[in-house]
Amino acid sequence: MEKIIIFDIEIELTKKNIKNIYISVHPPNGAVKISAPKKMDMDYIELFVKSRLSWIRKQQEKFVNEKRQPEYEYVSGERHYFFGDSYILNIVYTNKRTQGIEIRNNGYMDLYVRDNTPKNIRERVLTEWYRNKLKETISSLIAKWEPIMGVKVNEFGVKRMKTRWGTCNPTARRIWINLELVKRKPIFLEYVVVHEMVHLLERSHSKRFISYMDKFMPNWRSVKAELNGLKN
Ligand SMILES: [Zn+2]
Repeated sequence: MEKIIIFDIEIELTKKNIKNIYISVHPPNGAVKISAPKKMDMDYIELFVKSRLSWIRKQQEKFVNEKRQPEYEYVSGERHYFFGDSYILNIVYTNKRTQGIEIRNNGYMDLYVRDNTPKNIRERVLTEWYRNKLKETISSLIAKWEPIMGVKVNEFGVKRMKTRWGTCNPTARRIWINLELVKRKPIFLEYVVVHEMVHLLERSHSKRFISYMDKFMPNWRSVKAELNGLKN
């Protein structure tokens, strides 16, 4: 078995004594496996993957959705996450101050809203706060890594993504980061930011890309495995 990466998708490739090529996507994390005839060359395998790209992504999204946490109601007592720590949500009704979040040292996350604020607004206040915190952190990570890597990020943003932790457009020098990372340990965000920034040095996941990762973040493999739920 060997690991290959085609179009940002990590694939376990097994060459066997078979006549046809087979592809499958597996729960819980949408791992992609290919069995191919021993003599089949990589160009053909790449083309094969390319022709099934949207199908692969659809299968992966299905698993991501199945794993998703139960719906939040954004009421007091719910457990919410911020950079790897868990907090009990505490709704505080107020007419005096602006709506927002305050993290307390005793493990509570106070959500300040006006009386009778509906669920969708409570959710929006928390999401906006998450978004701002994540942007602040990404901004300082980029500032930290730019001089080390000798690259310049033109623009970055945060959005919800179903199957990816980040994306990079090397031509525009623009990076997108998955909003979900604000809930996970900070090392995961740093790993994703570094990965996307390495794309400014090398577009594909080539050997050169991997040697940059080894240089900048020697433990990236174990961070990645943990982020993708491949180890505990
Ligand atoms: Zn990549």
